[in-house]
Amino acid sequence: MPSHNPLVAVYPGSFDPITNGHLDLIQRCAPLVDKLVVSVLRNAHKHPLFTLEERVAMLRSVASPFPNVEVDCFDGLLVDYARQKQAKLLLRGIRAISDYEYELQMALMNRRLAPEIETMFMMAGEAYSFISSKLVKEVIGLGGNISGLVPPSVEEKLKQRFLGRE
Ligand code: ADP
Repeated sequence: MPSHNPLVAVYPGSFDPITNGHLDLIQRCAPLVDKLVVSVLRNAHKHPLFTLEERVAMLRSVASPFPNVEVDCFDGLLVDYARQKQAKLLLRGIRAISDYEYELQMALMNRRLAPEIETMFMMAGEAYSFISSKLVKEVIGLGGNISGLVPPSVEEKLKQRFLGRE
């Protein structure tokens, strides 16, 4: 049997915070690769709701059932980071046409920078395609119910942050 290099994918994002849409992608991609590195981009937004450490901790807790999922963070060029991780794949999600344009632009730029790395897109799960971290934060900020949109541990964190509830 020819030995093969482990297939590593990097799933980059802000994850401020992780939603059930992100989790669905992780769940579907993890069985397809040897290792999936979910990595939080440092400084993606100037004013994130959760610190980098908080976002990483939430991701770690949610990803703990998946033995081949690693949670990390990075800054600088994504392709440099992917090379460092010996990743051949970048995972991104597409929810609607509105995601497509930006994702295409990023994928083509990353291909130009690192032709040996492929961007792999997964379509959002039908139950999750309307979920974004931004909208979840807006809804809870206005007093709406977000249960089922984020993992329960993340819902608790959001309630603590917005409603001052333990
Ligand atoms: P970014 O700031 O890089 O867009 P996000 O954390 O919001 O970071 O998203 C990371 C990736 O996950 C993006 O490719 C985004 O399109 C995808 N994504 C976000 N929410 C969902 C969802 N509900 N279903 C599927 N993919 C999603």
